[in-house]
Amino acid sequence: MRVGIGYDLHRLGAERPLKLGGIEFPGQPGLIGHSDADPVMHAVADAILGAAALGDIGEHFPDTDPEWKDADSARILAEAARLALANRSLAPVNVDVNVIAERPRLGDKKDAMRARLAEVLSLPVESISVKARTAEGLGPVGRGEAIEVQAVVMMRNATRTSDQ
Ligand code: MG
Repeated sequence: MRVGIGYDLHRLGAERPLKLGGIEFPGQPGLIGHSDADPVMHAVADAILGAAALGDIGEHFPDTDPEWKDADSARILAEAARLALANRSLAPVNVDVNVIAERPRLGDKKDAMRARLAEVLSLPVESISVKARTAEGLGPVGRGEAIEVQAVVMMRNATRTSDQ
């Protein structure tokens, strides 16, 4: 078993729909970024690369690469998982995500985000956790200038099937 940690923060204010965990939040200000700026996908992808000790998403998906311009970040997550499997024989076991944002309230969209992450990672939805909190009005996240995401992933050796 191996564990990885991921973190991402994006500034709010883009003329695009807010997207978190592959789910759009219509009517909310969007996040600024090279791809679709989905910090949930990015933090989970970074956690997977971290568990595999394969560097970070900035190395694999640079914001200077036109390939990832406005890209669906589900592709970045899928590619991170593919790299971990191909290079380290590691597959995700479970994922835990914190979304820190003053708004929107994630509410019933948390389950849609879990379902989308589960789909991209080929995991049961019970293996994906999405939790939400605010920053209590403090700092850039608290002022509604940014959204912050933390992620932890457990990975298993995918060449063995008896260790789960
Ligand atoms: Mg990012």
